[in-house]
Amino acid sequence: MIRINENYLKLKASYLFADIAKRVNAYTAANPDKPLIRLGIGDVTEPLPEVCVKALHEGADELAKRETFRGYGPEQGYAFLREAIAQGEYATRGCTIAPDEIFVSDGAKCDSANIQEIFAEEGLKLAIPDPVYPVYIDTNVMAGRTGANVGGRYEGVTYLECTPENNYVPAIPSEPTDLIYLCFPNNPTGAVATREQLTAWVEYAKANQAIILYDVAYVAFIRDESIPHSIYEIPGADEVAIELRSFSKTAGFTGTRCAYTVIPKKLQAYDSTGKAHSLHSMWNRRHTTKFNGVSYPVQKAAAAIYTPEGQAQVKALSDFYLENAALIRTAMQDLGLSCVGGDNAPYIWINTGRDSWEFFDLLLNKAGVVCTPGAGFGKCGEGHVRISAFNSRANVENALKRIAEALA
Ligand SMILES: *Cc1c(COP(=O)(O)O)cnc(C)c1O
Repeated sequence: MIRINENYLKLKASYLFADIAKRVNAYTAANPDKPLIRLGIGDVTEPLPEVCVKALHEGADELAKRETFRGYGPEQGYAFLREAIAQGEYATRGCTIAPDEIFVSDGAKCDSANIQEIFAEEGLKLAIPDPVYPVYIDTNVMAGRTGANVGGRYEGVTYLECTPENNYVPAIPSEPTDLIYLCFPNNPTGAVATREQLTAWVEYAKANQAIILYDVAYVAFIRDESIPHSIYEIPGADEVAIELRSFSKTAGFTGTRCAYTVIPKKLQAYDSTGKAHSLHSMWNRRHTTKFNGVSYPVQKAAAAIYTPEGQAQVKALSDFYLENAALIRTAMQDLGLSCVGGDNAPYIWINTGRDSWEFFDLLLNKAGVVCTPGAGFGKCGEGHVRISAFNSRANVENALKRIAEALA
C-alpha cells in the first residue's frame, strides 16, 4: 500500500488567501459598481525593464540559429551571469564572493525551500521569524523537522518574535539554534536590520556553529546607505551565512524566473561524529543532480541589469514603487496609524490597534481596498495589516483617498 508523507498532515491549512477571496467576492457581489483596489499584492505590477526585454529577444534569436543554438547550460548558471552578479552585487559592496560561489536558479522560493535538504533531518534546531514568509516554516514541516501545530505554532521551533517593542527586528534567542532564517528588508513588515544587529546574529551563529539563511529578495529597495545590502558585509559572515537573492522584485522577474543563492566555500556543517563538511560541495552536488539550469534568454535578461543602462532602469523601477510606499506610509501616519516599512521596502506594516481581520473588513467594506491581514503571517502578525506598494500610481492615490474618507 502506497503511504503518504504524514508530515503534510501537520501543515496548518493556509486559509489566508481563500479567506480573503471569500470576503472580496462577497463585497463585489454586493457592490457591483464600486471597483476594488488591491493593495494586498505581493507581486510586481510594472513591465520588465527595456534592457531585459531586448536581451530576451536576442537570446531567443540566438536559439533560432544553428550556429548560436544552445542546449543544456551549466546547472549552476552561465559564467557571464555569475561573473556579473559577483561584480555588480558583491565587489561593488566590498564583499569578496567568487562567481563559483553563486548558484543561479529559477527562484528564491525554491532555493529557500530546497536548501534545508543538505541539513540533518532529525535534531536540527530551527529559528524562524514570526511573522514570516510562510515558505521557511512550511517546508520544514514537510521535511518532518517540527512537531505538531499547537495553537498556531509548531512544536520544537524557536520563534523569533518581531513586535512593536523590538521594532520588528527579533532578539537573539537565549538558547542555541542550528538553522536561522532571517529576511531583511522584511516581507511582510518592511523592517530592515542595522549593521550592529546583523553583526550580533553572525556572532551568535559562530558561537553556536549554526547557519544563517539570509533572504535579501528586497535588496533593491534599500535607500538608507548605512543598512547592509548583503550579510557578507559583516566580517566573518562568509563562515556562517548563505544568502538568497532574486531578480523577481529587483527587475520584475516574478513571471520570468531567475534567482541565485550564494554559498561561500568557507561554509561548513558537521556530521554525527563532529567532522566538518563543505556546504558548497554538498549544494553543488544537490543542484547539479536535481536542477538543469535557467533558460539562456532569461539568464541573458538577468545579466542585462548589470550594464549602466540596466542599473538605471532597475533603479527607476524600485524608485517608482518606493514613491508609492512613501505616499502610503505618510497617509497612514496622517490618519494616526503607527507603521513601519515603506522606506527601504515595498511593504508598509500597520499596527492597527485592533484585530487584523476586523481592520481588513473595515478597509474592504468602507473603502473598497484590499490589504493583507497580518495574522496570516503568524501569531505576532495579529493586530497588523500589510499594505503593498506594488501597484499603479493612480490606484495607490485613489485607494489612499478612499481610506482617508472611510477612517475619517
Ligand atoms: C518575493 C520573495 C522572494 C522571491 O521569490 P522568487 O521565487 O525568486 O520569485 C523570496 N523571498 C521573499 C521573502 C519574497 O517575498
